[in-house]
Amino acid sequence: MTNSNWITRGEAVFAGTYTRFPAAVVRGQGCRLWDADGKEYLDFLSGIAVCSLGHCHPAVTEAICAQANKLLHVSNLFYTEPQTELAELLTEHSFAERVFFCNSGAEANEAAIKLARIYSSSAGRHEVISLSGSFHGRTLATVAATGQPKFHKGFEPLPSGFIHADFGTPEAIERLINDKTCAVLCEPIQGESGVRPLPAEYLQAVRAICDRHGLLLIFDEVQTGIGRTGTLFAYEQCGVTPDIMTLAKALANGLPIGAMLTRAKIAAAFTPGTHASTFGGNPVAAAAGVATLKTMLAEGFFADMLKRSSYFMHRLQGFVETFPQLCADVRGRGMLLGLVLTEKGITHGPEIVRRMFERGILINFAGMQALRFIPPLTVSREEIDRVVEELTQVLAELS
Ligand SMILES: *Cc1c(COP(=O)(O)O)cnc(C)c1O
Repeated sequence: MTNSNWITRGEAVFAGTYTRFPAAVVRGQGCRLWDADGKEYLDFLSGIAVCSLGHCHPAVTEAICAQANKLLHVSNLFYTEPQTELAELLTEHSFAERVFFCNSGAEANEAAIKLARIYSSSAGRHEVISLSGSFHGRTLATVAATGQPKFHKGFEPLPSGFIHADFGTPEAIERLINDKTCAVLCEPIQGESGVRPLPAEYLQAVRAICDRHGLLLIFDEVQTGIGRTGTLFAYEQCGVTPDIMTLAKALANGLPIGAMLTRAKIAAAFTPGTHASTFGGNPVAAAAGVATLKTMLAEGFFADMLKRSSYFMHRLQGFVETFPQLCADVRGRGMLLGLVLTEKGITHGPEIVRRMFERGILINFAGMQALRFIPPLTVSREEIDRVVEELTQVLAELS
């Protein structure tokens, strides 16, 4: 079976919600993927910031196989070893004391929104303020929370109780607060809308606003969490502690999982029957999560990754100097990096991604603003060099 066979068969049966690369991926190892025609790719997408330890990391694969031989699923009517261990690891290494497991980022945000509402219900508050340009998922409530009209179109009426503040100034949030507001929801770095970091001072001001008005601060760390920015969680670098944090993407290095973390006092608003997930914290996904976290928490993992991140940022900065007509800026932290394009560069964004794909390099164009680089955190300098070389040639072709 070739790429073309799989594409034809897929197009005949899939709902058309995705524009896919014209490749059927059959195998992965580290930062590399291979398609059905035998072509090799250097993967700077990581399944959208999911496979942060690279494809088929041996520790994760071993944990999955061992758990699959013991027990696949029992539901949350029981206790299981991997789910307990994963919750212990997450609470031990974060501000949180309680964890609710689910299966995706959108579900984790749904859980956060539901918790914020039920926690605030006795005070008659339910409104959540999120930011313009944000992305929080594709369920109806998380679409409503997402501050990008293009994701709303055609799905109205959306659930009520979500309002959006302009990106960038704390006052824009404070102005929208009223006696119905219960929480502020934001991503420490807006990934989907073009790798837009929220400055530490801004997040500190938002924390102070939440404290002043008695609001919960929810950090959506679905993309920034689990090491992507150089610490286990991005909030650790902002000098701000949220009340609720959501995780998914990289948590199990490729198996579906989501988590909503919070302090015990807030979690107490969820009582038996208030919220649930049949598959949440599934033993196999949780075992993969435990292996993922243990690997990242090993001595030196982040220090080493941050050196390669600085090197990568430095190489990306070179594009701003060499191709000023196409490249405007470098943004992001750790291995969540964006090369922001100029107005002229933006018109070439999709074509740059296409030409890189032709050359066997996988990147994407986020938020119609920036080329986004989200390689496995284990990516080598040689692999970074290769991407820089190929991108240099593509940008030269388009100049
Ligand atoms: C990907 C993402 C989501 C949605 O996660 P799903 O697993 O696709 O539901 C939510 N928030 C952020 C910041 C994301 O990057």
